[in-house]
Amino acid sequence: MNSLAVLHASQLVTLAGSKRPRVRSEMSELAIIHDGGMLVHDGIIVAIGSSAQIEKGARQSELVDAGGRVVLPGFVDAHAHPVFAGNRLDDFELRARGETYEQIAAAGGGIWSTVEKTRAASEAELFDQAKKHANWFLKCGTTTVEAKSGYGLTLEDELKMLRVIRRLNEETPIEFVPTFLGAHAIPRARRADEYVDLVINEMLPRVASEKLAEFCDVFCERGYFDIEQSRKILTAAKKSELKLRIHADQLTNSGGAKLAAELEATTADHLEKTDENGIAAMKASGVQPVLLPGSVYALGSTDYPRAREMIEAGLAVVIATDFNPGSSPSPSMPMMLSLACTQMKMRPAEAITASTINAACSLNRGDEIGSLEPGKLANFSIFDCEDYREIAYWFGFPQIHSVYVRGRPLLSRANET
Ligand SMILES: [Zn+2]
Repeated sequence: MNSLAVLHASQLVTLAGSKRPRVRSEMSELAIIHDGGMLVHDGIIVAIGSSAQIEKGARQSELVDAGGRVVLPGFVDAHAHPVFAGNRLDDFELRARGETYEQIAAAGGGIWSTVEKTRAASEAELFDQAKKHANWFLKCGTTTVEAKSGYGLTLEDELKMLRVIRRLNEETPIEFVPTFLGAHAIPRARRADEYVDLVINEMLPRVASEKLAEFCDVFCERGYFDIEQSRKILTAAKKSELKLRIHADQLTNSGGAKLAAELEATTADHLEKTDENGIAAMKASGVQPVLLPGSVYALGSTDYPRAREMIEAGLAVVIATDFNPGSSPSPSMPMMLSLACTQMKMRPAEAITASTINAACSLNRGDEIGSLEPGKLANFSIFDCEDYREIAYWFGFPQIHSVYVRGRPLLSRANET
């Protein structure tokens, strides 16, 4: 048996609590143990408690001295697009010169330029680039990442992306949760209805039969997929036993949040333009909002979603990076926590809950990850600070000391001078 004892965390941020997503004041309850410790056997947490208690049961264990630093569950990033070819540096410069996301997309930039590069790339090339992204996530303290397809937009290219995600899951330490996003954009030279039929009749059956995705997502937005087209695709996905996520109400309040509620989607994501009716609908159906402040920031907008209203309405809010080459080129959850607190007025504790246990629940993994409790995977990070609020407070530089997945050290600055 492989045994590990983590001792002397200034704060062992356990998030121990009820086995469901946390709402309202529960989002501020982090169940912190001061001078905390944790015992791990074969990658599974078997005990948490004070360092003194843990040390007694740790005679045969390898010791990890957290040295008065914060220990946190590995971040769970519940919305990301980590597989793509190339970058969008030209769009970035055009935005810096004052053009909008929609203007750039209309002129041939945007999602379409990434689709062309991704189609041209081989599976091996896509894998190599995505492996680099996986390492970036790890360096930010993230140990689970939801990963969407959606830059292929043909049957073969969507399958290629999903196979890359499967390989990332097998060959990198991060757990990737695959989502089929064939309905990310309508390909050039195709009629919308014709493409919707292709997604439903050709792509979905293959994705389901090859078990390449757990979730299906749709970009429900003006100029992409309208409510009726989104409903059609997601209803078909549900019949194929995929769970649902939706890109909803990002640029316009088009009714995406309400559609998520109607279809009992697991999550509705973005929600920058969602109003109180959308919030009430999500509450009634138990839809989790996934808020993506990095994309608001990187697009130079100030139009953040109404996080406070959502928390006060009792929604189990999630924060994610939306890592992608166009609108959110950041894999950094600490940066998202900073934005959540400064721009959306979430409390630091709420932001931690939103990026760990609530995110884990939104990926159907609330009983495996997202908190440090006996029976869960020993996925955790040690941050080079004494108070968890520092993770959101100091921004723009890495405070990670080390990262562990299933009790294995993957990134460590412990031996650096
Ligand atoms: Zn997205």
